[in-house]
Amino acid sequence: MIPNSTLDVLRSVLGETRCRTDPATTLAYSYDNSRLHHRPDAVVFPEATGEVEAIVACAAKDRIPLVARGLGSNTTGASVPVEGGVVLSTERMRAILEFAPDDRLIVTEPGALNTDVQHTARTRGLFWPPDPSSASHSTVGGNIATNAGGPRAVRYGTTRDHVLGLVAVDGRGRAFRCGVRTPKSSVGYDLTRLLVGSEGTLAVITEATLHLVPCASDSLTYRAVYRSYEEATRAISAILNQPLPPSAIEFLDERALQLIRSEIPGIPEAGRALLLIELEQNRPFTPPETAMFEALLAREGLIDLERADEETARESLWLARKSLSPALRRLAPGKINEDVVVPLSRLPALVDAVFAIGSRQKTEVVTFGHAGSGNLHVNLLFDPADPAADARARSALSEVFEAVLGLDGAISGEHGIGLSKRPFMAAGLDPVTLDLMRDLKTLFDPSGILNPGKLLPPRGADSACAEPGGPT
Ligand SMILES: Cc1cc2nc3c(=O)[nH]c(=O)nc-3n(C[C@H](O)[C@H](O)[C@H](O)COP(=O)(O)OP(=O)(O)OC[C@H]3O[C@@H](n4cnc5c(N)ncnc54)[C@H](O)[C@@H]3O)c2cc1C
Repeated sequence: MIPNSTLDVLRSVLGETRCRTDPATTLAYSYDNSRLHHRPDAVVFPEATGEVEAIVACAAKDRIPLVARGLGSNTTGASVPVEGGVVLSTERMRAILEFAPDDRLIVTEPGALNTDVQHTARTRGLFWPPDPSSASHSTVGGNIATNAGGPRAVRYGTTRDHVLGLVAVDGRGRAFRCGVRTPKSSVGYDLTRLLVGSEGTLAVITEATLHLVPCASDSLTYRAVYRSYEEATRAISAILNQPLPPSAIEFLDERALQLIRSEIPGIPEAGRALLLIELEQNRPFTPPETAMFEALLAREGLIDLERADEETARESLWLARKSLSPALRRLAPGKINEDVVVPLSRLPALVDAVFAIGSRQKTEVVTFGHAGSGNLHVNLLFDPADPAADARARSALSEVFEAVLGLDGAISGEHGIGLSKRPFMAAGLDPVTLDLMRDLKTLFDPSGILNPGKLLPPRGADSACAEPGGPT
Protein backbone atom coordinates (compact mmCIF):
# COMPACT_ATOMS: atom_id res chain seq x y z
CA MET A 1 0.00 0.00 0.00
CA ILE A 2 1.16 3.50 -0.78
CA PRO A 3 1.26 5.77 2.28
CA ASN A 4 -1.25 8.64 2.19
CA SER A 5 1.64 11.08 2.46
CA THR A 6 3.02 9.80 -0.88
CA LEU A 7 -0.41 10.10 -2.52
CA ASP A 8 -0.68 13.65 -1.17
CA VAL A 9 2.60 14.56 -2.90
CA LEU A 10 1.51 12.94 -6.19
CA ARG A 11 -1.85 14.76 -6.07
CA SER A 12 -0.15 18.05 -5.35
CA VAL A 13 1.90 17.56 -8.56
CA LEU A 14 -0.87 16.17 -10.79
CA GLY A 15 -4.21 17.09 -9.23
CA GLU A 16 -6.94 14.58 -8.27
CA THR A 17 -7.96 13.64 -11.83
CA ARG A 18 -4.47 12.62 -12.93
CA CYS A 19 -3.64 10.58 -9.82
CA ARG A 20 -6.22 7.79 -9.54
CA THR A 21 -6.70 5.11 -6.90
CA ASP A 22 -10.30 4.06 -7.65
CA PRO A 23 -10.87 0.31 -8.28
CA ALA A 24 -12.01 0.72 -11.89
CA THR A 25 -8.81 2.54 -12.84
CA THR A 26 -6.45 0.28 -10.91
CA LEU A 27 -8.13 -2.78 -12.49
CA ALA A 28 -7.79 -1.33 -16.01
CA TYR A 29 -4.03 -0.84 -15.51
CA SER A 30 -3.41 -4.15 -13.74
CA TYR A 31 -2.77 -6.30 -16.83
CA ASP A 32 -1.31 -6.30 -20.30
CA ASN A 33 -1.48 -8.52 -23.36
CA SER A 34 0.25 -11.35 -21.44
CA ARG A 35 -3.03 -11.78 -19.49
CA LEU A 36 -1.00 -11.76 -16.26
CA HIS A 37 -2.29 -9.22 -13.78
CA HIS A 38 -1.67 -7.51 -10.47
CA ARG A 39 -3.33 -4.30 -9.29
CA PRO A 40 -1.30 -1.14 -8.78
CA ASP A 41 -2.13 1.09 -5.81
CA ALA A 42 -2.31 4.19 -7.98
CA VAL A 43 -2.21 5.21 -11.65
CA VAL A 44 -0.72 8.56 -12.64
CA PHE A 45 -1.04 10.47 -15.92
CA PRO A 46 1.81 12.99 -16.29
CA GLU A 47 1.81 15.51 -19.14
CA ALA A 48 5.43 16.71 -19.09
CA THR A 49 8.98 15.60 -18.27
CA GLY A 50 9.00 17.85 -15.18
CA GLU A 51 5.99 16.00 -13.78
CA VAL A 52 7.67 12.64 -14.46
CA GLU A 53 10.73 13.86 -12.55
CA ALA A 54 8.56 14.80 -9.58
CA ILE A 55 6.68 11.46 -9.63
CA VAL A 56 9.87 9.36 -9.82
CA ALA A 57 11.62 11.44 -7.13
CA CYS A 58 8.62 10.96 -4.84
CA ALA A 59 8.51 7.18 -5.53
CA ALA A 60 12.27 6.88 -4.94
CA LYS A 61 12.10 8.77 -1.65
CA ASP A 62 9.35 6.47 -0.34
CA ARG A 63 10.65 3.33 -2.16
CA ILE A 64 7.40 2.82 -4.07
CA PRO A 65 7.55 0.58 -7.19
CA LEU A 66 6.88 2.51 -10.40
CA VAL A 67 5.98 0.93 -13.74
CA ALA A 68 5.98 2.99 -16.95
CA ARG A 69 3.20 1.97 -19.32
CA GLY A 70 2.44 2.71 -22.95
CA LEU A 71 -0.67 0.80 -24.07
CA GLY A 72 0.04 -2.55 -22.40
CA SER A 73 0.25 -4.45 -25.71
CA ASN A 74 3.43 -6.34 -24.74
CA THR A 75 3.18 -10.10 -24.48
CA THR A 76 5.52 -10.77 -21.54
CA GLY A 77 3.90 -9.09 -18.52
CA ALA A 78 6.45 -6.27 -18.80
CA SER A 79 3.94 -3.59 -17.77
CA VAL A 80 2.15 -5.58 -15.05
CA PRO A 81 2.83 -3.92 -11.67
CA VAL A 82 3.75 -7.18 -9.92
CA GLU A 83 4.76 -5.43 -6.71
CA GLY A 84 1.86 -2.94 -6.71
CA GLY A 85 2.86 0.72 -6.37
CA VAL A 86 2.35 3.26 -9.14
CA VAL A 87 1.64 2.76 -12.83
CA LEU A 88 2.83 5.77 -14.85
CA SER A 89 0.76 5.93 -18.03
CA THR A 90 2.13 7.95 -20.94
CA GLU A 91 -1.25 8.30 -22.64
CA ARG A 92 -1.40 12.06 -22.00
CA MET A 93 2.02 12.52 -23.62
CA ARG A 94 1.10 11.75 -27.25
CA ALA A 95 2.37 14.80 -29.10
CA ILE A 96 4.61 14.88 -32.14
CA LEU A 97 6.92 17.69 -31.00
CA GLU A 98 8.92 18.29 -34.17
CA PHE A 99 9.10 16.95 -37.72
CA ALA A 100 12.35 17.75 -39.53
CA PRO A 101 12.20 15.90 -42.87
CA ASP A 102 15.39 17.54 -44.17
CA ASP A 103 17.24 16.02 -41.20
CA ARG A 104 15.20 12.81 -41.53
CA LEU A 105 14.06 12.92 -37.92
CA ILE A 106 10.94 13.29 -35.85
CA VAL A 107 10.73 14.15 -32.15
CA THR A 108 7.81 12.70 -30.17
CA GLU A 109 6.50 12.31 -26.68
CA PRO A 110 6.58 8.68 -25.43
CA GLY A 111 2.83 8.04 -25.74
CA ALA A 112 2.64 8.84 -29.48
CA LEU A 113 1.40 5.79 -31.39
CA ASN A 114 3.71 4.12 -33.86
CA THR A 115 1.07 4.89 -36.53
CA ASP A 116 1.02 8.62 -35.53
CA VAL A 117 4.71 8.72 -36.42
CA GLN A 118 4.17 6.86 -39.70
CA HIS A 119 1.30 9.16 -40.78
CA THR A 120 3.36 12.30 -40.18
CA ALA A 121 6.50 10.88 -41.78
CA ARG A 122 4.62 9.65 -44.86
CA THR A 123 3.51 13.21 -45.73
CA ARG A 124 7.11 13.78 -46.86
CA GLY A 125 7.81 10.31 -48.31
CA LEU A 126 9.52 9.01 -45.16
CA PHE A 127 8.79 6.30 -42.57
CA TRP A 128 10.06 5.01 -39.23
CA PRO A 129 11.23 1.41 -39.86
CA PRO A 130 9.96 -0.35 -36.68
CA ASP A 131 6.73 -1.99 -37.90
CA PRO A 132 5.25 -4.24 -35.19
CA SER A 133 1.84 -5.67 -36.15
CA SER A 134 0.61 -3.72 -33.11
CA ALA A 135 1.61 -0.36 -34.68
CA SER A 136 -1.89 1.15 -34.24
CA HIS A 137 -2.09 0.18 -30.56
CA SER A 138 1.48 0.49 -29.27
CA THR A 139 3.48 3.60 -28.35
CA VAL A 140 6.87 4.96 -29.31
CA GLY A 141 7.94 4.60 -25.64
CA GLY A 142 6.79 0.97 -25.55
CA ASN A 143 8.42 0.20 -28.92
CA ILE A 144 11.70 1.68 -27.65
CA ALA A 145 11.54 0.00 -24.23
CA THR A 146 10.97 -3.44 -25.83
CA ASN A 147 13.17 -2.87 -28.92
CA ALA A 148 10.18 -3.82 -31.05
CA GLY A 149 10.62 -5.26 -34.52
CA GLY A 150 8.52 -6.57 -37.35
CA PRO A 151 8.73 -7.98 -40.87
CA ARG A 152 10.91 -5.09 -42.09
CA ALA A 153 13.71 -5.92 -39.64
CA VAL A 154 15.25 -8.10 -42.34
CA ARG A 155 16.13 -4.93 -44.27
CA TYR A 156 16.11 -2.11 -41.73
CA GLY A 157 16.92 -3.70 -38.36
CA THR A 158 14.84 -3.10 -35.23
CA THR A 159 13.86 -0.07 -33.14
CA ARG A 160 17.39 0.13 -31.69
CA ASP A 161 18.74 1.03 -35.14
CA HIS A 162 16.36 3.99 -35.54
CA VAL A 163 16.46 5.97 -32.30
CA LEU A 164 18.84 8.93 -32.41
CA GLY A 165 18.30 10.34 -28.95
CA LEU A 166 16.16 10.31 -25.83
CA VAL A 167 15.09 12.39 -22.88
CA ALA A 168 14.54 10.12 -19.88
CA VAL A 169 14.17 10.28 -16.11
CA ASP A 170 16.41 7.99 -14.04
CA GLY A 171 15.45 6.19 -10.82
CA ARG A 172 16.46 9.19 -8.70
CA GLY A 173 14.05 11.46 -10.60
CA ARG A 174 16.71 13.24 -12.69
CA ALA A 175 15.89 14.04 -16.32
CA PHE A 176 18.75 13.59 -18.78
CA ARG A 177 19.18 13.99 -22.53
CA CYS A 178 21.29 11.45 -24.43
CA GLY A 179 22.04 10.83 -28.11
CA VAL A 180 22.16 13.18 -31.06
CA ARG A 181 20.26 14.73 -33.98
CA THR A 182 22.91 13.70 -36.49
CA PRO A 183 23.25 10.55 -38.62
CA LYS A 184 26.42 9.59 -36.76
CA SER A 185 28.29 10.44 -33.56
CA SER A 186 31.19 9.17 -31.49
CA VAL A 187 30.89 10.79 -28.10
CA GLY A 188 31.31 8.40 -25.20
CA TYR A 189 29.02 5.62 -24.03
CA ASP A 190 25.84 5.14 -26.06
CA LEU A 191 23.17 5.50 -23.38
CA THR A 192 20.45 5.78 -26.03
CA ARG A 193 21.06 2.24 -27.26
CA LEU A 194 21.35 1.04 -23.67
CA LEU A 195 17.87 2.37 -22.86
CA VAL A 196 16.40 0.71 -25.96
CA GLY A 197 15.14 -2.68 -24.79
CA SER A 198 15.52 -1.83 -21.09
CA GLU A 199 11.77 -2.36 -20.45
CA GLY A 200 11.36 0.60 -18.11
CA THR A 201 13.89 -0.83 -15.63
CA LEU A 202 16.54 1.91 -16.03
CA ALA A 203 14.61 5.11 -16.76
CA VAL A 204 11.27 6.51 -17.89
CA ILE A 205 11.50 7.79 -21.45
CA THR A 206 9.78 11.16 -21.88
CA GLU A 207 10.90 12.22 -25.37
CA ALA A 208 12.38 10.42 -28.37
CA THR A 209 14.22 11.61 -31.47
CA LEU A 210 13.57 9.03 -34.16
CA HIS A 211 15.49 8.38 -37.35
CA LEU A 212 13.37 8.27 -40.51
CA VAL A 213 14.17 6.66 -43.86
CA PRO A 214 12.77 7.29 -47.36
CA CYS A 215 9.83 5.15 -48.54
CA ALA A 216 10.70 2.94 -51.48
CA SER A 217 9.06 3.92 -54.76
CA ASP A 218 8.41 0.40 -56.06
CA SER A 219 7.64 -2.88 -54.34
CA LEU A 220 6.67 -6.43 -55.24
CA THR A 221 5.11 -9.14 -53.09
CA TYR A 222 5.42 -12.89 -53.65
CA ARG A 223 3.74 -15.84 -51.98
CA ALA A 224 5.83 -18.99 -52.50
CA VAL A 225 4.71 -22.41 -51.30
CA TYR A 226 7.33 -25.15 -50.82
CA ARG A 227 7.17 -28.90 -50.39
CA SER A 228 9.30 -28.79 -47.23
CA TYR A 229 10.59 -26.22 -44.77
CA GLU A 230 14.21 -27.21 -45.56
CA GLU A 231 13.59 -26.15 -49.16
CA ALA A 232 11.85 -22.96 -48.00
CA THR A 233 14.82 -22.11 -45.77
CA ARG A 234 17.26 -22.69 -48.61
CA ALA A 235 15.15 -20.25 -50.64
CA ILE A 236 15.49 -17.67 -47.84
CA SER A 237 19.30 -17.89 -47.98
CA ALA A 238 19.17 -17.53 -51.74
CA ILE A 239 16.91 -14.45 -51.45
CA LEU A 240 19.33 -12.84 -48.99
CA ASN A 241 22.26 -13.53 -51.28
CA GLN A 242 20.90 -11.86 -54.45
CA PRO A 243 21.00 -8.14 -55.30
CA LEU A 244 17.30 -7.11 -55.04
CA PRO A 245 16.58 -5.88 -51.49
CA PRO A 246 13.97 -7.92 -49.55
CA SER A 247 12.00 -5.84 -47.02
CA ALA A 248 10.15 -8.85 -45.55
CA ILE A 249 10.55 -12.62 -45.61
CA GLU A 250 7.83 -14.25 -43.52
CA PHE A 251 7.49 -18.01 -42.93
CA LEU A 252 4.43 -20.17 -42.13
CA ASP A 253 4.77 -23.86 -41.26
CA GLU A 254 2.59 -26.76 -42.38
CA ARG A 255 0.22 -26.59 -39.40
CA ALA A 256 -0.24 -22.86 -39.93
CA LEU A 257 -1.15 -23.59 -43.55
CA GLN A 258 -3.73 -26.19 -42.49
CA LEU A 259 -5.31 -23.58 -40.22
CA ILE A 260 -5.78 -20.92 -42.88
CA ARG A 261 -6.41 -23.08 -45.98
CA SER A 262 -10.19 -22.91 -45.60
CA GLU A 263 -10.08 -19.08 -45.53
CA ILE A 264 -7.29 -18.37 -48.03
CA PRO A 265 -7.81 -19.88 -51.48
CA GLY A 266 -5.04 -21.32 -53.61
CA ILE A 267 -2.66 -22.86 -51.09
CA PRO A 268 -1.83 -26.31 -52.46
CA GLU A 269 -2.47 -29.34 -50.22
CA ALA A 270 1.10 -30.58 -50.71
CA GLY A 271 2.56 -27.32 -49.32
CA ARG A 272 4.47 -27.72 -46.05
CA ALA A 273 5.95 -24.21 -45.85
CA LEU A 274 4.95 -20.81 -47.19
CA LEU A 275 7.12 -17.74 -47.67
CA LEU A 276 5.76 -14.22 -48.05
CA ILE A 277 8.42 -12.09 -49.63
CA GLU A 278 8.41 -8.37 -50.21
CA LEU A 279 11.02 -6.62 -52.33
CA GLU A 280 11.39 -2.86 -52.51
CA GLN A 281 13.65 -0.31 -54.14
CA ASN A 282 13.73 3.30 -55.25
CA ARG A 283 13.19 2.69 -58.96
CA PRO A 284 10.77 0.42 -60.87
CA PHE A 285 11.62 -3.28 -60.98
CA THR A 286 12.55 -4.23 -64.56
CA PRO A 287 11.28 -7.40 -66.32
CA PRO A 288 14.80 -8.97 -66.32
CA GLU A 289 15.01 -8.35 -62.55
CA THR A 290 11.65 -9.99 -61.81
CA ALA A 291 12.49 -12.89 -64.17
CA MET A 292 15.80 -13.42 -62.35
CA PHE A 293 14.08 -13.33 -58.97
CA GLU A 294 11.28 -15.69 -59.96
CA ALA A 295 13.83 -18.15 -61.39
CA LEU A 296 15.61 -18.02 -58.03
CA LEU A 297 12.37 -18.82 -56.16
CA ALA A 298 11.53 -21.59 -58.60
CA ARG A 299 14.23 -23.77 -57.13
CA GLU A 300 13.73 -27.32 -56.01
CA GLY A 301 10.62 -27.75 -53.89
CA LEU A 302 8.56 -24.77 -55.13
CA ILE A 303 5.00 -25.87 -55.80
CA ASP A 304 3.13 -22.57 -56.11
CA LEU A 305 4.14 -18.96 -56.76
CA GLU A 306 1.92 -15.88 -56.78
CA ARG A 307 2.97 -12.28 -57.37
CA ALA A 308 1.25 -9.03 -56.46
CA ASP A 309 2.26 -5.71 -58.04
CA GLU A 310 -0.44 -3.46 -56.62
CA GLU A 311 -1.94 -2.71 -53.22
CA THR A 312 -5.16 -4.80 -53.25
CA ALA A 313 -3.43 -7.91 -54.56
CA ARG A 314 -0.62 -7.37 -52.06
CA GLU A 315 -3.06 -7.18 -49.15
CA SER A 316 -4.73 -10.39 -50.29
CA LEU A 317 -1.36 -12.22 -50.25
CA TRP A 318 -0.58 -10.83 -46.76
CA LEU A 319 -3.95 -12.13 -45.54
CA ALA A 320 -2.35 -15.58 -45.17
CA ARG A 321 -0.06 -14.18 -42.48
CA LYS A 322 -2.51 -11.78 -40.84
CA SER A 323 -5.32 -14.29 -40.36
CA LEU A 324 -3.08 -16.63 -38.35
CA SER A 325 -3.27 -15.10 -34.86
CA PRO A 326 -7.11 -15.14 -34.71
CA ALA A 327 -7.12 -18.69 -36.16
CA LEU A 328 -4.79 -19.85 -33.38
CA ARG A 329 -7.09 -18.45 -30.70
CA ARG A 330 -9.93 -20.55 -32.19
CA LEU A 331 -7.82 -23.70 -32.02
CA ALA A 332 -7.11 -23.79 -28.28
CA PRO A 333 -7.99 -21.57 -25.33
CA GLY A 334 -4.37 -21.46 -24.08
CA LYS A 335 -1.45 -20.19 -26.17
CA ILE A 336 2.19 -19.62 -25.24
CA ASN A 337 3.64 -17.47 -28.00
CA GLU A 338 7.42 -17.15 -27.94
CA ASP A 339 9.50 -15.14 -30.37
CA VAL A 340 12.79 -16.98 -30.42
CA VAL A 341 15.59 -16.18 -32.84
CA VAL A 342 18.40 -18.31 -34.30
CA PRO A 343 21.11 -17.80 -36.93
CA LEU A 344 19.46 -18.25 -40.31
CA SER A 345 21.31 -21.47 -41.13
CA ARG A 346 19.84 -23.08 -37.98
CA LEU A 347 16.20 -22.33 -38.84
CA PRO A 348 15.38 -25.83 -40.23
CA ALA A 349 17.00 -27.40 -37.15
CA LEU A 350 14.86 -25.18 -34.93
CA VAL A 351 11.63 -26.09 -36.73
CA ASP A 352 12.59 -29.80 -36.46
CA ALA A 353 13.39 -29.40 -32.77
CA VAL A 354 10.13 -27.65 -31.85
CA PHE A 355 8.01 -30.22 -33.68
CA ALA A 356 9.89 -33.05 -31.92
CA ILE A 357 9.33 -31.30 -28.57
CA GLY A 358 5.64 -30.82 -29.37
CA SER A 359 5.09 -34.48 -30.15
CA ARG A 360 7.13 -35.62 -27.12
CA GLN A 361 5.15 -33.31 -24.82
CA LYS A 362 1.83 -34.00 -26.59
CA THR A 363 1.42 -30.28 -27.17
CA GLU A 364 0.26 -28.78 -30.44
CA VAL A 365 2.89 -26.51 -32.02
CA VAL A 366 2.44 -23.91 -34.76
CA THR A 367 5.37 -21.83 -36.00
CA PHE A 368 5.52 -18.75 -38.18
CA GLY A 369 7.41 -15.49 -38.18
CA HIS A 370 10.01 -13.14 -39.53
CA ALA A 371 12.20 -15.87 -40.96
CA GLY A 372 14.42 -13.48 -42.90
CA SER A 373 15.78 -12.36 -39.51
CA GLY A 374 15.85 -15.90 -38.08
CA ASN A 375 12.95 -14.86 -35.79
CA LEU A 376 10.31 -17.55 -35.32
CA HIS A 377 7.08 -17.28 -33.34
CA VAL A 378 6.67 -20.65 -31.64
CA ASN A 379 3.08 -21.14 -30.48
CA LEU A 380 2.35 -23.87 -27.95
CA LEU A 381 -1.40 -24.54 -27.86
CA PHE A 382 -3.13 -26.19 -24.93
CA ASP A 383 -6.14 -26.14 -22.64
CA PRO A 384 -5.22 -24.29 -19.42
CA ALA A 385 -8.21 -25.89 -17.65
CA ASP A 386 -6.41 -29.24 -17.97
CA PRO A 387 -3.55 -29.17 -15.40
CA ALA A 388 -1.64 -31.99 -17.12
CA ALA A 389 -1.82 -30.22 -20.52
CA ASP A 390 -0.76 -26.97 -18.88
CA ALA A 391 2.26 -28.66 -17.25
CA ARG A 392 3.24 -30.35 -20.54
CA ALA A 393 3.10 -27.00 -22.41
CA ARG A 394 5.35 -25.39 -19.79
CA SER A 395 7.86 -28.26 -20.00
CA ALA A 396 7.75 -27.91 -23.77
CA LEU A 397 8.54 -24.20 -23.39
CA SER A 398 11.66 -24.93 -21.30
CA GLU A 399 12.78 -27.45 -23.92
CA VAL A 400 12.19 -24.97 -26.75
CA PHE A 401 14.41 -22.39 -25.01
CA GLU A 402 17.10 -25.02 -24.39
CA ALA A 403 16.98 -25.98 -28.07
CA VAL A 404 17.23 -22.32 -29.13
CA LEU A 405 20.28 -21.69 -26.93
CA GLY A 406 21.84 -24.92 -28.21
CA LEU A 407 21.47 -23.53 -31.74
CA ASP A 408 23.33 -20.30 -30.80
CA GLY A 409 20.07 -18.35 -30.71
CA ALA A 410 18.37 -16.04 -28.19
CA ILE A 411 15.11 -16.45 -26.27
CA SER A 412 13.60 -13.22 -27.61
CA GLY A 413 13.95 -11.57 -30.99
CA GLU A 414 11.52 -8.69 -30.41
CA HIS A 415 9.03 -9.12 -27.56
CA GLY A 416 11.56 -8.80 -24.71
CA ILE A 417 11.87 -10.61 -21.39
CA GLY A 418 9.39 -8.95 -19.02
CA LEU A 419 8.03 -11.23 -16.37
CA SER A 420 7.34 -14.41 -18.29
CA LYS A 421 10.83 -15.01 -19.69
CA ARG A 422 12.74 -13.70 -16.67
CA PRO A 423 13.35 -17.23 -15.24
CA PHE A 424 15.11 -18.16 -18.50
CA MET A 425 17.21 -15.00 -18.87
CA ALA A 426 20.36 -16.21 -17.10
CA ALA A 427 20.65 -19.38 -19.17
CA GLY A 428 21.57 -17.46 -22.31
CA LEU A 429 23.97 -14.95 -20.76
CA ASP A 430 27.59 -14.93 -19.69
CA PRO A 431 27.56 -14.59 -15.85
CA VAL A 432 29.83 -11.54 -15.92
CA THR A 433 27.57 -9.90 -18.50
CA LEU A 434 24.60 -10.52 -16.23
CA ASP A 435 26.50 -8.99 -13.29
CA LEU A 436 27.35 -5.91 -15.35
CA MET A 437 23.68 -5.57 -16.30
CA ARG A 438 22.72 -5.70 -12.62
CA ASP A 439 25.39 -3.09 -11.80
CA LEU A 440 23.96 -0.82 -14.50
CA LYS A 441 20.49 -1.26 -13.04
CA THR A 442 21.79 -0.17 -9.61
CA LEU A 443 23.55 2.83 -11.15
CA PHE A 444 20.42 4.09 -12.93
CA ASP A 445 17.96 3.08 -10.22
CA PRO A 446 19.67 2.80 -6.80
CA SER A 447 16.41 2.23 -4.90
CA GLY A 448 15.26 -0.48 -7.33
CA ILE A 449 11.87 1.15 -7.86
CA LEU A 450 11.72 1.11 -11.68
CA ASN A 451 9.68 -1.86 -12.93
CA PRO A 452 10.88 -4.24 -10.19
CA GLY A 453 10.60 -7.98 -10.78
CA LYS A 454 11.18 -7.68 -14.55
CA LEU A 455 13.90 -8.57 -17.01
CA LEU A 456 16.86 -9.33 -14.69
CA PRO A 457 16.60 -12.47 -12.57
CA PRO A 458 17.33 -11.84 -8.88
CA ARG A 459 20.91 -12.46 -7.73
CA GLY A 460 21.37 -16.10 -6.74
CA ALA A 461 18.72 -17.29 -9.24
CA ASP A 462 21.09 -17.78 -12.15
CA SER A 463 20.42 -21.46 -12.82
CA ALA A 464 19.39 -22.45 -16.33
CA CYS A 465 15.80 -22.66 -17.52
CA ALA A 466 13.82 -22.54 -14.29
CA GLU A 467 10.04 -22.92 -14.37
CA PRO A 468 8.25 -19.65 -15.08
CA GLY A 469 6.17 -18.18 -12.28
CA GLY A 470 4.52 -14.86 -11.44
CA PRO A 471 1.02 -13.62 -10.87
CA THR A 472 -1.91 -14.77 -12.95
C1 LIG B 1 -1.61 -8.10 -31.87
C2 LIG B 1 -0.20 -7.78 -31.40
C3 LIG B 1 0.82 -7.82 -32.32
C4 LIG B 1 2.13 -7.55 -31.92
N1 LIG B 1 3.10 -7.58 -32.86
C5 LIG B 1 4.37 -7.28 -32.51
C6 LIG B 1 5.40 -7.28 -33.49
O1 LIG B 1 5.17 -7.54 -34.69
N2 LIG B 1 6.65 -6.98 -33.09
C7 LIG B 1 6.94 -6.67 -31.79
O2 LIG B 1 8.09 -6.39 -31.49
N3 LIG B 1 5.98 -6.68 -30.83
C8 LIG B 1 4.71 -6.96 -31.16
N4 LIG B 1 3.73 -6.97 -30.21
C9 LIG B 1 4.09 -6.67 -28.80
C10 LIG B 1 3.91 -5.19 -28.37
O3 LIG B 1 2.98 -4.51 -29.17
C11 LIG B 1 5.24 -4.45 -28.34
O4 LIG B 1 6.05 -5.02 -27.33
C12 LIG B 1 5.13 -2.93 -28.10
O5 LIG B 1 6.39 -2.36 -28.32
C13 LIG B 1 4.63 -2.55 -26.69
O6 LIG B 1 4.23 -1.18 -26.73
P1 LIG B 1 3.22 -0.58 -25.65
O7 LIG B 1 3.10 0.88 -25.92
O8 LIG B 1 1.97 -1.34 -25.63
O9 LIG B 1 4.05 -0.78 -24.31
P2 LIG B 1 3.63 -1.54 -22.96
O10 LIG B 1 3.16 -2.89 -23.29
O11 LIG B 1 2.76 -0.65 -22.17
O12 LIG B 1 5.05 -1.62 -22.23
C14 LIG B 1 6.06 -2.47 -22.69
C15 LIG B 1 7.32 -2.23 -21.87
O13 LIG B 1 7.80 -0.92 -22.14
C16 LIG B 1 7.94 -0.17 -20.94
N5 LIG B 1 7.60 1.22 -21.26
C17 LIG B 1 6.50 1.69 -21.90
N6 LIG B 1 6.59 3.02 -22.04
C18 LIG B 1 7.76 3.40 -21.47
C19 LIG B 1 8.42 4.65 -21.28
N7 LIG B 1 7.88 5.78 -21.70
N8 LIG B 1 9.60 4.65 -20.65
C20 LIG B 1 10.18 3.51 -20.21
N9 LIG B 1 9.60 2.30 -20.36
C21 LIG B 1 8.42 2.25 -20.98
C22 LIG B 1 6.97 -0.82 -19.96
O14 LIG B 1 7.36 -0.60 -18.63
C23 LIG B 1 7.11 -2.27 -20.36
O15 LIG B 1 8.27 -2.81 -19.77
C24 LIG B 1 2.41 -7.24 -30.56
C25 LIG B 1 1.38 -7.20 -29.64
C26 LIG B 1 0.09 -7.46 -30.05
C27 LIG B 1 -1.01 -7.39 -29.04
